Amino acid sequence: VSQATPAPPATGGRRLKQLAQIEVGELRGVGPRKTAALAAMGIESVLDLLMHYPRRYADRTNCQAIAAVRVGEEAVVSAEVRRVSTRRPRNRRAIVELTVDDGTGNLTVSFFNQPWRARQLSEGAHVVVFGRVDEYRGHLQMVNPLVDLVGDRTGRIVPIYRQSQKAGITSAELTEYVAEALERARTFADPLDGPLLEGLRLVSRTTALRAIHAPDDDEERFAARRRLAFDELLRLQLSLVLRKRAAAEAARGITHLLAPAEGPGLVAGFIEGLPFALTGAQRRVIEEIAADLGSPLPMHRLLQGDVGSGKTVVALAALLYAVQGGHQGALMVPTEVLAEQHYLAARRLLSGLEVDDAGRLGGRRPVVAALLTSRTTTAERRRLLTRLVRGEVDVLVGTHALLTEDVRFSSLGVVVIDEQHRFGVDQRAALREKGSAREAEGRDPDVLVMTATPIPRTAAMTVYGDLDYSVLDELPPSRTPVQTRWVAEEGEAVAAVWERVRAELAAGRQAYVVCSRVHQGVDDDEGAGEGLLYEDEEGEGQLFRAEEQSGRPPPRAAIEEHLRLAEGELAGFSVGLLHGQLPSREKDRVMASFRDGLTQVLVATTVIEVGVDVANATVMVIEDADRFGIAQLHQLRGRVGRGAHASVCYLLASEVNEEAARRLDALARLADGFELAEVDLELRGEGTVLGARQKGRSDLRLASLRRDRALITTARQVATEVIDADPALASHPLLAEELELFIGEGAAEYLERS
Ligand code: ADP
Ligand code: MG
Repeated sequence: VSQATPAPPATGGRRLKQLAQIEVGELRGVGPRKTAALAAMGIESVLDLLMHYPRRYADRTNCQAIAAVRVGEEAVVSAEVRRVSTRRPRNRRAIVELTVDDGTGNLTVSFFNQPWRARQLSEGAHVVVFGRVDEYRGHLQMVNPLVDLVGDRTGRIVPIYRQSQKAGITSAELTEYVAEALERARTFADPLDGPLLEGLRLVSRTTALRAIHAPDDDEERFAARRRLAFDELLRLQLSLVLRKRAAAEAARGITHLLAPAEGPGLVAGFIEGLPFALTGAQRRVIEEIAADLGSPLPMHRLLQGDVGSGKTVVALAALLYAVQGGHQGALMVPTEVLAEQHYLAARRLLSGLEVDDAGRLGGRRPVVAALLTSRTTTAERRRLLTRLVRGEVDVLVGTHALLTEDVRFSSLGVVVIDEQHRFGVDQRAALREKGSAREAEGRDPDVLVMTATPIPRTAAMTVYGDLDYSVLDELPPSRTPVQTRWVAEEGEAVAAVWERVRAELAAGRQAYVVCSRVHQGVDDDEGAGEGLLYEDEEGEGQLFRAEEQSGRPPPRAAIEEHLRLAEGELAGFSVGLLHGQLPSREKDRVMASFRDGLTQVLVATTVIEVGVDVANATVMVIEDADRFGIAQLHQLRGRVGRGAHASVCYLLASEVNEEAARRLDALARLADGFELAEVDLELRGEGTVLGARQKGRSDLRLASLRRDRALITTARQVATEVIDADPALASHPLLAEELELFIGEGAAEYLERS
């Protein structure tokens, strides 16, 4: 009996790879000069051209007749340029004046200081003009409006391309070139078959590529965008799923010892010895991790959990599984302060635990934790590295100093990266490759990545899509919800805040006051080791700096605020100061004093964002709260509400811009870090989430982490199904080809390995 062979996928039509090999110069409309100009814009192949999607669209049905526009209001008109002239009033800049006419009337369009407009806009050109209508000497006029040169198109919806004044390419020219390319290509090969497309309600690639450039209506345009965005997301998810599978294939992992032959084992002892019972979520996640560790495949897992959900305990349990089997654990964190805090926590939580040591009398020794940062002195460091390679250190906590070449382990079994979105894929790989001195063949340690603050699920699927996923979705019962109030007025409202702080202190509680900088006046380097500068890298800094230039009073600084409060609102109480520029010793002293309750108020910078854990602190005042991002504020307020007493966090910020107002309002309204993460993504866009991680790894032009959540989930499902059924994409040659084209070498490599 002959089995029916499956129908080959529809491969008629142009393949993207072919289009990538055809130079734009081959289009009839594109001569050598324009070829060079297009190249300057990054458009070299016909594929580049077709993927130069319109930036937006002008809908001519939204245009008004010139006869109907009203003076003093904004209007969009579609018209033909009738006359162009340039005036140069003496000692002044050029004024280009156009008369545009749409058949119902005419309008003067004036451009000040844009002499090139005379070259761009010539008589007979069709333009869509958007701006405020004025009256000048009895004539309708627009000054410096937005102008789109739409060419002689008759369509209702006109694509507006990113054009380049410098290269000398207009949107209208691009429209023309794209039209020729579409006409000559006729149809495009589709990597997805008909039934799949139908099931997902996606249009064909041919339809999509035509409609994205020349839609007849909005519906067509949306359908086109959805299809092309799906293609981008599918390629990304395919590469992530392939990467994940390839990592599993490599299978050079360590099978960790989950239950020792004798005794309860180190992890059980650790959990037993904790001063609290694990939450259900902690138990579940530790089991998920244990399942990974007990298998010969190396773990690659992402742990998400809200501030205070107890990630540290989970991380330590994972590290101890390694130690229990005679391996070592490493915990890598982004800042020195965090490293020190984690180290102290680890030392405290691990005290009393013992491991086997044949070299010792009695065969046991205490579990040893050590700290390695760039602050570690050379001598200490040398000693530490020797002990590390001998296996005398069990758990190493540190910053990216752990990545330096001379750091070698005896046998690195588990790596936990507390990532705060700040370590890239490459660094993770570097740490994984630390390998082991003992086992020459070098097996991959298991890796757990923790995000300090949550990111939305679909974003995680995109950014960390090559990892398995665990979530701590339960806070320890010891935590009391923190009431958050945004105080937007000065004066009495602020006085009431300090009143409340004094009341808390009088009742024996403690307080934090957080400032955005160390010193007054100077743009200090606080962030260098701590918090703000990192945020800068993620784009928030610019926002703040822009605000700074707007003439608002300078932000309060910790040093000055410490003095002011100690003599003013908080006179009579013991007020301490903590910031990143203090010497380590002084920092330790201040922290210890606050921990012991000797210091009642801590005026600090974001150094307290992480790690600080004082259950008696019940009130936090964040000054200039609009200068912090959502994630940072959420982290900060997580420092209170750690004991049995009701806690409150005041966000002081008056005269804030609209975006800051939305941030602060969200903080006051929402307690859940995952919900806040959604708002953050809404407000700030995906750049902040994607960060460096994603660079060079994606071709997301249309797809958006914000708008396309459902599509991301669908793409993930399809990618998984496709690869489950066809791990090497043997029967999906077009998908394989496009992966190589867009994702590059990596993808090809994973495919080969499958
Ligand atoms: P995060 O997830 O923000 O890193 P931490 O690991 O710092 O949270 O834990 C926050 C606080 O909660 C710490 O003081 C920790 O000791 C405590 N904690 C962790 N788990 C529990 C639990 N199951 N019950 C009570 N307290 C817990
Ligand atoms: Mg933590």
